[in-house]
Amino acid sequence: MLYAQVVLPLAQPMYTFSLDEKLAVRVGDAVVVQFGSSRFYTGIVWAITDKKPDYPRLKPILKRLYATPLVSAEAQRLWEWIAEYYMSTLGEVMRMALPSLAKPSATSFVELDERSIEPPMESYVSLSDELCSEQALLEYKEKHARRAPKRVELLDSVADSISRYGADDGYVPRRMLSISSEQLLALRKQGVVRVEQRLVERKYGGERFLSPTLSEAQRVALDAIHKAHEENRVALLHGVTGSGKTEIYMHLIADTLSRGESVLMLVPEIVVTSQLVERLERIFEGRVTTYHSRLTPLRRGKTYLRLASASGGELVVGVRSSIFLPLNNLGLVVVDEEHDANYKQSDMSPRYNSRDMAVVMGKMYGAKVVLGSATPSLESYLNALSGKYAYVELKERWGEGVLPEVVVSDTIRAVKRGERKTHFNFDLLRDVERALSSGDQAILFQNRRGYAPYIQCRTCGYSPRCPHCNVTLTQHKSTARMECHYCGYNIPTPTVCPNCEIQDMALMGFGTEKAVEEISRLFPEARVERLDSDTSTSESAFKRIVSSFQNRESDILVGTQIVTKGFDFGGVATVGILNADNLLSTPDFRASERTFQLMMQVAGRAGRRNDRGRVIIQTSQPKHPVIQYVASGDYHGMARAELNERKNFGYPPFSHLVRLQLRSENYELLHHASHYVAGLMRKKFGGRVMGPVSSALEILRGEHRSEILLKIELGASMQRARDLLADVIRLTAENKDYKGVKLVVDVDAC
Ligand code: ADP
Ligand code: ZN
Repeated sequence: MLYAQVVLPLAQPMYTFSLDEKLAVRVGDAVVVQFGSSRFYTGIVWAITDKKPDYPRLKPILKRLYATPLVSAEAQRLWEWIAEYYMSTLGEVMRMALPSLAKPSATSFVELDERSIEPPMESYVSLSDELCSEQALLEYKEKHARRAPKRVELLDSVADSISRYGADDGYVPRRMLSISSEQLLALRKQGVVRVEQRLVERKYGGERFLSPTLSEAQRVALDAIHKAHEENRVALLHGVTGSGKTEIYMHLIADTLSRGESVLMLVPEIVVTSQLVERLERIFEGRVTTYHSRLTPLRRGKTYLRLASASGGELVVGVRSSIFLPLNNLGLVVVDEEHDANYKQSDMSPRYNSRDMAVVMGKMYGAKVVLGSATPSLESYLNALSGKYAYVELKERWGEGVLPEVVVSDTIRAVKRGERKTHFNFDLLRDVERALSSGDQAILFQNRRGYAPYIQCRTCGYSPRCPHCNVTLTQHKSTARMECHYCGYNIPTPTVCPNCEIQDMALMGFGTEKAVEEISRLFPEARVERLDSDTSTSESAFKRIVSSFQNRESDILVGTQIVTKGFDFGGVATVGILNADNLLSTPDFRASERTFQLMMQVAGRAGRRNDRGRVIIQTSQPKHPVIQYVASGDYHGMARAELNERKNFGYPPFSHLVRLQLRSENYELLHHASHYVAGLMRKKFGGRVMGPVSSALEILRGEHRSEILLKIELGASMQRARDLLADVIRLTAENKDYKGVKLVVDVDAC
């Protein structure tokens, strides 16, 4: 008899089951077990031994699922690393990693049909039968040389690719053609080429791809990255927006795939994947696999299974949870926009940072790592300064592209001089006007959605708040309701003050909905679209708005953070940041860094093709250092100043912050528990403990929240800190006085 330790998707330690050798179960396999009297679970076999454990009665493993093990030896080490570092359990990691393949289930279990997994295909192209002989081709070209010279040219190009890269059957992979999709389609319609779908050939090595030709600056950067990788170092690619980082990634990806190794490319958001995937598909047709939470569970499950049995040569583009995909023979991990806060999961355990895990994976899998950004995180920048990472910089935009001019427009001064209409300074309006009259486009960025962030009674000052979350309710004009942006609680917009019963409620501040209304009134001819989470509830709505702006069917795009995310729009002459003040005033030690990154990202949308774009920043603090650094595009200046500040106060990247949040519906209880826990922590950690304080959201969904921060200076042992903190958590959980208080740990909280 054998015995297996099995991870179940629960926040609990592993359980041991007996294992019949006949089931041929291996480490890493998914298995079905019974737990309790009637519950079935899918579990992952973590270890197998023949030593009988001490427990009297062991339940058996009932069944093995799937032909291939789902978790490789490397992935086991990654899971263990994550569970330990982020103070969660392997079961929680499992829930994250195998969302659809390992659902806890009361009565049955799901098993996907492995035979239903479609293998990836790519297109192959040949000349049509009539043109197959050299003679026929020549005659055709002569016949059409005068009337259709373009077609003949394209045909030549296809024939050339076939002779260079084609197989004996006259077919060449579409990816080896240097013509566009539209051109290929035209040739097909004219009946001169044939296109056929074939299985992606799994030679595992030796494949060729047509990577873009690089500029001199890009070549130098690529060489520097190669050099870093030879020295087993992570490369930090700092390249301004539009400098062509993606083209550099493409070269690295092509190298890796042709060695038969796999590539993981992480992106911070689903919304940017489609443009990127289109670009990658053009070169790596049939090899690009996308992975994100908008895919159906079935699709994600199939992707997981397909990858688990593939031996290499895969290219996965996905959001943070893609680090859990089973990538065999992983050769390269690219983290695009590495500074983005979305890489950190903060709403659920394990609260991991995918960017950091990419670096850990590099070591575990022996893979090369590139972190890319136009505004690197200070964590990565410090690693570059200290020489831990290789620092590679691209200072200029690719081709003729020039960086936009940044203009700071003082809102207070504009009001004094009568140079402001509603929420727009004349500076900005003039620029929008100029853009529109020359047929260009404008983007207006406002980081609040809805109509007005809050309403206030002009007589008594009352403004309605969410009873569950204690934040002001945002007015939505289209629905005539006020909504809580945290929990969705909403009420009809009151016209009479609920407090003093006088009819004097006024809308305060403004969100994207109001900005659209006002700008449409000022520019009645312009076609205005809004891009925020209210207008892009579905994938198709989102795509429609983006593509209509891309195809210049709209002139002005008003949006929240979404508009900053790496879109490549060609015709944007003006970018307006409508209210920089509310970015600067967030109570967060990262506010300066984040504001700089955000403003540089929005600014990056201006003038991407040829003309120099302009960015207008509306602010009441034109002298604010962050605004000044944005105006001069001085990343290094911002980074140095900010690092200095962080060092003085012992903030990351000079320390690790661990946040312990306490939650309870009972405010009294929470108050006492917080002080008890903080007291325990001070005994162990002394002056490294801050708090307790109320969380930024004091109440969320009816639960009161407070938190205690722990600063562990660089160089101190995180292992020891975690052990001590685990003691505190255990002591609190065992204390009957504080029953019902939830403790949530967030390591490297941001
Ligand atoms: P980044 O990711 O650094 O913001 P991109 O990779 O999106 O920059 O490049 C910006 C633009 O320049 C894109 O439209 C891209 O097609 C073009 N580009 C950059 N490098 C090259 C190159 N070597 N050959 C052709 N086009 C390039
Ligand atoms: Zn609420």
